[in-house]
Amino acid sequence: MDSIIRIENLIFEYQRDETEKPVRALKDINLEIKRGSFTAVLGKNGSGKSTLAKNLNGLLLPTGGTIYVNGYDTKDEEHIWDVRQSAGMVFQNPDNQLVSAIVEDDVAFGPENLGIEPAEIRRRVDKALNDVNMGAFKGKAPHLLSGGQKQRIAIAGVVAMKPSCIIFDEPTAMLDPKGRNEIMKIIQELHAEGITVVLITHFMEEAACADRVIIMHNGEVFLDGTPEEVFSQGEKVRSVNLDVPLAVELAAKLREEGIDIPANIIGTEEMVEYLCQYK
Ligand code: ADP
Ligand code: MG
Repeated sequence: MDSIIRIENLIFEYQRDETEKPVRALKDINLEIKRGSFTAVLGKNGSGKSTLAKNLNGLLLPTGGTIYVNGYDTKDEEHIWDVRQSAGMVFQNPDNQLVSAIVEDDVAFGPENLGIEPAEIRRRVDKALNDVNMGAFKGKAPHLLSGGQKQRIAIAGVVAMKPSCIIFDEPTAMLDPKGRNEIMKIIQELHAEGITVVLITHFMEEAACADRVIIMHNGEVFLDGTPEEVFSQGEKVRSVNLDVPLAVELAAKLREEGIDIPANIIGTEEMVEYLCQYK
């Protein structure tokens, strides 16, 4: 298996100074993320999702164990920019990610820092803005845009660095349903183009779009499998205060009534399609 990310016995502790007792946020995590895959990471607040995300691109370094990104050890200072360029990050709040007064400058910021040629930067900026359907906004001021548009600019800034993998940490949490749908569509398109996606989310419907679901609990991997495998364990999922997607819950109730819904129906759209056969 060709893994873009390999996590071996990862431990992470927060500690401000020596006098303070360390907080162990991640406890012995072992994971491999396959190149080109789409993984959703779920877990209630404080389960360690953001800490894991920041470890994946070297923003935080392991207290114990090792993480390899594209073959580079994240602790290897010589290759920290290779790690950051390989695994881009998109955070929850787009306001904290935008740095320039003009959209296209913002998108150019990452590639400029990588020392890319100006002509190549221009090509990348145009392509990245088109990828997120924001080409028409390249001369605009980011602060005049909606939350969803700003998040798309932030995504374009990461895409312009040509990462192999993008880690999205609750990218839709601050958006309205329309903005959320737009971001999810773009994430799915980037995945279709070959980018490895790790999506941290608390929306079960978004997790249903992935080909793998990991549930974190108390700094550990609690469940890991296909969406079907994970969400069919409703009681276990609920035991860590998470829900299963609406379609999975509905399928379970229909089965109780003797209507046999196939186990691979996880998303709302698939459920609608399946039920419409009986119109
Ligand atoms: P999640 O993203 O799943 O909500 P986090 O990774 O943010 O979880 O947090 C995991 C644990 O680490 C929590 O117990 C949290 O309180 C703790 N933590 C997070 N950030 C810090 C920090 N900067 N200093 C100390 N503890 C932290
Ligand atoms: Mg978080």
